[in-house]
Amino acid sequence: MTDLSRFDLVVIGGGSGGVRAARVAAGHGAKVALIEEYRLGGTCVIRGCVPKKLMVYASRYAQEFSEAAGFGWQVDGARFDWPTLKARRDAEVARLEGVYRANLLGSGVSVIEGRAQMLDAHTVQVGDAQRVYGDHVLIATGAQPSQGPPIPGYALAINSNGFFDLEALPARVVVQGAGYIALELACVFKLLGAEVDIVVRGDAILRGFDADIQTHLLQELQAQGVRFHFHRHVTAIEQHEQALQVALDDGTTLAGDCVLGALGRKPNTTGLGLERLGLHLDAHGAIAVDDYARTAVPGVYAVGDVTNRVNLTPMAIREGHAMADTVFGNTPRTVDHVLVPTAVFTTPEAGVVGLTEAQALAVCPRLDVYRSQFRPMKATLSGHHGKMLLKLLVDRDSDRVLGFHAIGPDSGEMAQLMGVALQLQATKAALNATLAVHPTAAEEIVTMRTPSVRHNH
Ligand code: FAD
Ligand code: NDP
Repeated sequence: MTDLSRFDLVVIGGGSGGVRAARVAAGHGAKVALIEEYRLGGTCVIRGCVPKKLMVYASRYAQEFSEAAGFGWQVDGARFDWPTLKARRDAEVARLEGVYRANLLGSGVSVIEGRAQMLDAHTVQVGDAQRVYGDHVLIATGAQPSQGPPIPGYALAINSNGFFDLEALPARVVVQGAGYIALELACVFKLLGAEVDIVVRGDAILRGFDADIQTHLLQELQAQGVRFHFHRHVTAIEQHEQALQVALDDGTTLAGDCVLGALGRKPNTTGLGLERLGLHLDAHGAIAVDDYARTAVPGVYAVGDVTNRVNLTPMAIREGHAMADTVFGNTPRTVDHVLVPTAVFTTPEAGVVGLTEAQALAVCPRLDVYRSQFRPMKATLSGHHGKMLLKLLVDRDSDRVLGFHAIGPDSGEMAQLMGVALQLQATKAALNATLAVHPTAAEEIVTMRTPSVRHNH
């Protein structure tokens, strides 16, 4: 056992939240160690947002090529090569990992490789051979794919981690789940040429999203040929010669070359030694924290997916930054978990910020709903049948815009900017006063004048 090294802050987990907290704390003059058991950058950089978005970009060329003829282009003979994409994507991820390492070291953070567990509130063991001591310890260990119910043949399925290891495009894919990951990866498979079946336990996709987003996206994906099986569970997976047979609870069977489970994620709290601290976990295995990222044990903090609040990269970063400013920067900061712009990188993509119509109605009975559904200009020549959806929710009494929901090209980019507008408490009058950028799809946001629904409860 090497000597106990002493730090002001020991961070467990080198992902979005942990890296930000470590660098900001070091910037405030703290002596910081960061422990990572796998690869620096965490889920987002290594097997989440970044490689996912690169796959999304790759998949969208298929649509672009098919639409190009309408604009006079001849692109016959375009061919896609999965191994080329995988090699280039993996190289980019490795480059980014190096950038993360360089930034940490450049900030003066000591990076320690290995699996950490806590021996007490201040002592962290790394692997078998090293112990470090922190006046403060930040748990930023993220989450991992949930396994779902243990069904026969479960081991034949992959999860989102396995998606990034695939060496070839499967011809037929069966996806379990209908959340962010299931739908984003289903679209990648579909556009690249796979047959896709999605098995959904309930009757809707994207739980928690605005009902118009759920319905519109479902219609768009069905129109592309994605097959949905609602109110169904996978009961068994069997290998039959070259193919997988996926049995559903209604007795039917789906054939696939790959089964992707995307059934939510579970906080990484197992084996961390938290029981030794007397730190209780919620039913989902997450660590409870207060507004300042403090757990119930003094000196021990948690941020990011391990707290299972809003499981998005910018939120983990914001929470890590706030923790470091609060503890080491003499600037107490809390984080708003309510106004959260987000995008689902399906094709077409969804971008939203603020309340859904159901949520808005619960707090604001006199609600105006502005909804515009139209074929984007590009579709006039490309022949693409998809329609764009833009929706604004406005409190009639205060004129405040409470929610923005979009589906279609660049909706994620729109959600980012509408996030600024909602942060500034924009009114509908302010949108009306804003000059349009023409010709764009986003100009509808400032030109919708007549509510399609006026709620009067
Ligand atoms: P992580 O980034 O998961 O980092 C935790 C780190 O802790 C990991 O590196 C892990 O190896 C390490 N660790 C765990 N246990 C230990 C231990 N005992 N000792 C040492 N190290 C340990 N969010 C978005 O905002 N936009 C997106 O487009 C998006 N796409 C996603 C796509 C996929 C496929 C997935 C899975 C997630 C996606 N997310 C996206 C979510 C986003 O990746 C997470 O919210 C974010 O990474 C959480 O950051 P974190 O710091 O809490 O945890
Ligand atoms: P989600 O919570 O988004 O979706 C989980 C899906 O699995 C839901 O459809 C859920 O159904 C279903 N499900 C859960 N348990 C079971 C079960 N036992 N049997 C059948 N179906 C089940 O999780 P994801 O894994 O897709 O993503 C995790 C998180 O990562 C996201 O919530 C998001 O925070 C983040 N993320 C963000 C992205 C982005 O910003 N673009 C992209 C990818 C991930 P039901 O609706 O009925 O509960």
